[in-house]
Amino acid sequence: MEDHARFRLMCPGPINVSRRVSEAMISSEIGHRESEFSALLKNIKKNCLSLMKLDPEEYSMVVITGSGSAANEAVLCSALQPQDHILSLVTGEFGRRLSEISAIYNPNTEALVQDWATPLDLANVEQKLKNGHFDWVTMVHHETSTGELQPVKAVGALCRKYGVKLFVDAVSSFMVDPLDLADCNVTFMSTSSGKGIGMGPGLSLVVGRISEFEKLSTYPVRNYYLSLARHYSFFINKLQTPNTPGITLFIALNEALNIIAEEGVENRLRFQAQKARYFRDGLKSLGFALLQPDHVLSNAVSSVILPASMSFATLRDRLRERGFIVYGGKGPLADKIFQVSTMGAVNCDDIQDLLDALADATQMNIHSVA
Ligand SMILES: *Cc1c(COP(=O)(O)O)cnc(C)c1O
Repeated sequence: MEDHARFRLMCPGPINVSRRVSEAMISSEIGHRESEFSALLKNIKKNCLSLMKLDPEEYSMVVITGSGSAANEAVLCSALQPQDHILSLVTGEFGRRLSEISAIYNPNTEALVQDWATPLDLANVEQKLKNGHFDWVTMVHHETSTGELQPVKAVGALCRKYGVKLFVDAVSSFMVDPLDLADCNVTFMSTSSGKGIGMGPGLSLVVGRISEFEKLSTYPVRNYYLSLARHYSFFINKLQTPNTPGITLFIALNEALNIIAEEGVENRLRFQAQKARYFRDGLKSLGFALLQPDHVLSNAVSSVILPASMSFATLRDRLRERGFIVYGGKGPLADKIFQVSTMGAVNCDDIQDLLDALADATQMNIHSVA
């Protein structure tokens, strides 16, 4: 951990940021209708598309001031149309939220609900797409509430086969787990600043096909602030945002993307995978069990079974006293698991400190060593 951070935020967002990023967050004051801001947006776009290996002739993006949900709502109220039929894959809490937001704007939203932490039933998805005349599928790449990566590539292939567009929430996987938009046939993708990118919360991004961004201006506006059409038109025509953006956050986002570009995406993803593996190996040697098998897990979050006889509240308090923030389970996983993120500016030394604190807090090592 860097010395400016008070807590080690080992929860699925917010995460600890590097000193370079935290300094950028309090850096110089600029106006958002000035060339300095446009230069920032230009660099953010150039870096982002190049980190994602996307052709700028085919893909574009916008940045919205608001947390990850803002990008999700912007897509769901702007790109999806009231007459569209939407198949919303609910694989946990975040998939559920996509279907909930979609249903507010689009009456023909059908939720396909999967038990949490079980693999998505692709045959069932195909059956639906074959019989249902759907226009869109919505899904989460990394279902943060379980820690499980969802099969975007397989769903994208089904969407190609049945001529359906695909919206993917990659809020907690972007720059932690690989996702190739072109290969996976993704129409629009959302993410946020406060997770894998390594910045504080407050900005969200939508990346997608230019051909689809360009259609937006012909659709009715159903949400003023979150209109993707307005954001896109300001971004493309003026290199600005429609309303006053969180300017200092944009400066920090630009710096966070510069850092990833300097590191190289492959190196960064490798480091995220290495940290996740270090934590999971350590957990297992202490006698903890993970909720799911390793091969479905993201590099972002581990869902760990709570030791019998310990409530999450007790574990959380004991870890908090030692400066670590972790999260509990949501929905059906409440008080069954705790969640640890190894994203952000933590390294294997921090992870080892957390493992030591976990061993003390739960006495797990005493049972497993005996
Ligand atoms: C964190 C997260 C979000 C967004 O939540 P906000 O509170 O709006 O930042 C959306 N989807 C997933 C998968 C997430 O992990």
